Amino acid sequence: MTDRTKYLLDESEMPTAWYNIVPDLPAPPPPPLHPGTGQPVGPDDLAPLFPQALIMQEVSGDRHVDIPGEVLDVYRLWRPSPLFRARRLERALDTPARIYYKYEGVSPVGSHKANTAVPQAFYNAAEGVTKLTTETGAGQWGSALAFACSVFGVDCEVWQVRASYDQKPYRKIMMETYGAVVHPSPSDITNSGRAVLAEHPDSTGSLGIAISEAVEMAAGDPSARYALGSVLNHVLMHQTVIGEEALRQFELAEDTPDVIVGCTGGGSNFGGLVFPFLREKLAGRIAPTIRAVEPAACPSFTRGVYAYDFGDTAGLTPLLKMHTLGHGFIPDPIHAGGLRYHGMSPLLSHIVEQGLVEAVAIPQNECFAAGVRFARSEGIVPAPEPTHALAECIREALRCKESGEQKVILTALCGHAHLDLPAYGSYLAGEMVDRELTQHEVEQALKGLPAMT
Ligand SMILES: *Cc1c(COP(=O)(O)O)cnc(C)c1O
Repeated sequence: MTDRTKYLLDESEMPTAWYNIVPDLPAPPPPPLHPGTGQPVGPDDLAPLFPQALIMQEVSGDRHVDIPGEVLDVYRLWRPSPLFRARRLERALDTPARIYYKYEGVSPVGSHKANTAVPQAFYNAAEGVTKLTTETGAGQWGSALAFACSVFGVDCEVWQVRASYDQKPYRKIMMETYGAVVHPSPSDITNSGRAVLAEHPDSTGSLGIAISEAVEMAAGDPSARYALGSVLNHVLMHQTVIGEEALRQFELAEDTPDVIVGCTGGGSNFGGLVFPFLREKLAGRIAPTIRAVEPAACPSFTRGVYAYDFGDTAGLTPLLKMHTLGHGFIPDPIHAGGLRYHGMSPLLSHIVEQGLVEAVAIPQNECFAAGVRFARSEGIVPAPEPTHALAECIREALRCKESGEQKVILTALCGHAHLDLPAYGSYLAGEMVDRELTQHEVEQALKGLPAMT
């Protein structure tokens, strides 16, 4: 290993293809099903929502998909992103472990979401789509898509989960600066939104509700399409630029990860980091333990079931086989808004079912303690979501301190918190609460699963 603090690649070393892990898996993931027929959905079913190029990527069996030159040109604004060795955090923890983090907060919008927003806006614009609709939880995805739409001249309309719309006015201003139109969700301009408001006038919203609203609007407008910032195969594939770069950076570092951890909301930053490493592991070249970290308040991997469920609350999407808490589950308004989703990427769920990736859940106070510890040693204030990954890195580093093992730990620091500082304010004021879900609440939520599972 070398004694450097950061590992940088030249623009000329940027990956020129995304990696599709599906052909390298021991078995293919179960297909999405049409809720009416129970049959696998075909490209035609998805055409009202997505452009052909992305539908083809969603079902692709090719190991690599070339990144279009127009997309590479935009990626060059911030890629390749740096890999850091967290030497100061290691010292603060007095651990023999070596900790590395791949930092995606260098994108213009401050998170990894731009890696998929840019190709999604590009392919839609190339097929003549004039408007994209979407949902946003914490606001990172909405900001990323608004930025990407501004680059390719596409209109952008965003449903922002009410809790985040109220807590994070700066996110809305950022999206509007890029030219997007932003609605709080639930809103009174869609059937799905009105249905929720009729029952719960004070609803703080959820990603599932916001997805229903954005899907409904796109489906009703022939020149509009819908864009999703996580969960789907093509989204995880776009994010693999993170892991491909990190593999090259580990060569520069002359080191090899033993443990890879990442936070999972829908699975995209995690899949993006780990899939290239999992490819190497499946080929027998490396043997890292790979671990997903989710919030204790929204534990789809650790307390949900693996079953067919809707991706949204109103039941407008195809049925996806995934780890889910039930599409009616409304998580507590925890501060890691990007992790408040009832389901999980079907591809990643399948990989977890196959025993290739493990999962843990951590409550938010421990995560913010990790975020503060990281900020005070490394300087970057992490977004609330990756504090979950950092909390697990710290647990692992402290285990190494006990055992004396010199493990190499890698994580994705997938965004910074500059627009999420009220969450830190709440933590620093001692006002953050950890609420454990009761078994009864989990069982109630799972009762709403569609019968066909
Ligand atoms: C959206 C988001 C997440 C959660 O989504 P994944 O698809 O699981 O990555 C996590 N961290 C940040 C910074 C996000 O913007």
